Amino acid sequence: MAPAIVWFRNDLRLDDNPALMTAARSGAPLIALYVLDDDSAGQWRMGDASRWWLHHSLSSLADDLAQHGVPLVLRRGRAEFALEEVIAETGTCAAYWNRLYEPWAMRRDNEIKTSLRGRGLTVESFNGSLLFEPAHMRNRQGETFKVFSPFWRACLAAGGPQAPSPAPAKLDAAPAPASDTLDEWGLLPKKPDWARGLRDAWRPGEASARACLSAFAKNHALDYKLARDDIAGQGASRLSPHLHFGEISPRRVWAEIMQSAGEAGLPYLRELGWREFFHHLLVSYPEMPERALDRRFDDFPWRDDPSALEAWRRGRTGYPLVDAAMRELWLTGFMYNRARMVAASFLVKHLLLPWQEGARWFWDTLVDADLANNSGNWQWIAGCGADAAPYFRVFNPVLQGAKFDPEGVYVRRFVPELAGLESRWIHRPWEAPAHVLAAAGVTLGETYPRPIVDHAAARALAAFEEMRASSADSA
Ligand code: FAD
Repeated sequence: MAPAIVWFRNDLRLDDNPALMTAARSGAPLIALYVLDDDSAGQWRMGDASRWWLHHSLSSLADDLAQHGVPLVLRRGRAEFALEEVIAETGTCAAYWNRLYEPWAMRRDNEIKTSLRGRGLTVESFNGSLLFEPAHMRNRQGETFKVFSPFWRACLAAGGPQAPSPAPAKLDAAPAPASDTLDEWGLLPKKPDWARGLRDAWRPGEASARACLSAFAKNHALDYKLARDDIAGQGASRLSPHLHFGEISPRRVWAEIMQSAGEAGLPYLRELGWREFFHHLLVSYPEMPERALDRRFDDFPWRDDPSALEAWRRGRTGYPLVDAAMRELWLTGFMYNRARMVAASFLVKHLLLPWQEGARWFWDTLVDADLANNSGNWQWIAGCGADAAPYFRVFNPVLQGAKFDPEGVYVRRFVPELAGLESRWIHRPWEAPAHVLAAAGVTLGETYPRPIVDHAAARALAAFEEMRASSADSA
């Protein structure tokens, strides 16, 4: 029997993988293929932190497939050419994959599907990474939901997603064509080795994703609603990179949380709902990563200030919570959601720098960088997206710090030069008396920056801009 290709993409797992399951059931011997297609991704080629993750995730998938006797074939370049080559080399009669929802990938995959089918191959694609297929989740007008709450109600009314299916018990391997090696792809940093913090913080791969979910379901799913905002704590699941790379399916997460926590797990599942919401939006609004969904923001007078942008990127704004967040990102490739909101709000509302600049930096530095979630959340924070926070809502980094990191545990961890400061001043060192700063070894402007912008000014600017937008609206 002629072989079938299982084209792995952001579904780097064996469990609940409909493309793999269908290929295995077809009875054809399998070729497991991954293509690194930077050309088609263009400006959205994976950032450096994602490439680090990809290396380890592919290595883990290759090990898991090898246990079934199936080698993972690696090819680099435009996916259509890579597939053509493998098909020509092996006489493949069928190709199966799970769908991606990035605009560039949807365009590419549709063309590939049409072309292969035109040549008589069996080609099938599946939903392997969302709870619901975007085309099936519509509002009463038959359109994509633009407001989260009714969207989520509709998801719940649909009775939850399909149950996940286990990994196939048995896979038959076809003779494998030639493969690149992972090392040839150079996904890991060379000099300097900036990935030490990532290595300490993460274990990519399916087994680790399953362990992470089980530990969260057992220990934290019930108190998630309260614990998730403790910036220094462990109350959130840290599943986002595993979900992005498809090392675990959202259907598996749903099933396990429901099994362990029942209805009490719904606040957690609601967050998966946001992931879902932004993916559905991206399918309908492919311009979302670059352009505000609220068109009034097309002419927004963003500032151009490279040194302020650099201070934000490097965690040197003089606002300890923002700086801790940005340094955590640089060190570990991650930030908790609350820290992301504060740091992102600071960029757009205090510094008045374009949200796209922030999204770009996150794209390069997050291990969970995800086009839908990243651009959707940045637009939400900037107040220019679907169902976004109002523009005048400014996260106050001092109050947020006092509320969600009251003892300064998080700030001390990532901004060590402030570690000796009393908790009372840790989120506003510029207000601390001179003797307190001296006792903590802090010299503002030398050991730690003075605030690069005044919080009160940020609020005034925001209010002004909101007024401007609404008067333009009614003109
Ligand atoms: P948990 O709190 O345990 O949530 C479980 C899962 O739900 C997450 O893994 C994630 O898949 C999903 N989720 C949670 N919150 C959100 C949210 N607000 N939007 C969409 N999905 C959510 N998430 C990414 O996966 N990739 C990104 O590139 C990304 N960029 C962001 C940029 C900004 C400015 C902000 C404010 C948020 C961003 N998020 C992004 C969303 C969120 O911060 C992360 O998903 C979350 O912090 C991941 O940690 P966790 O897995 O412990 O989340």
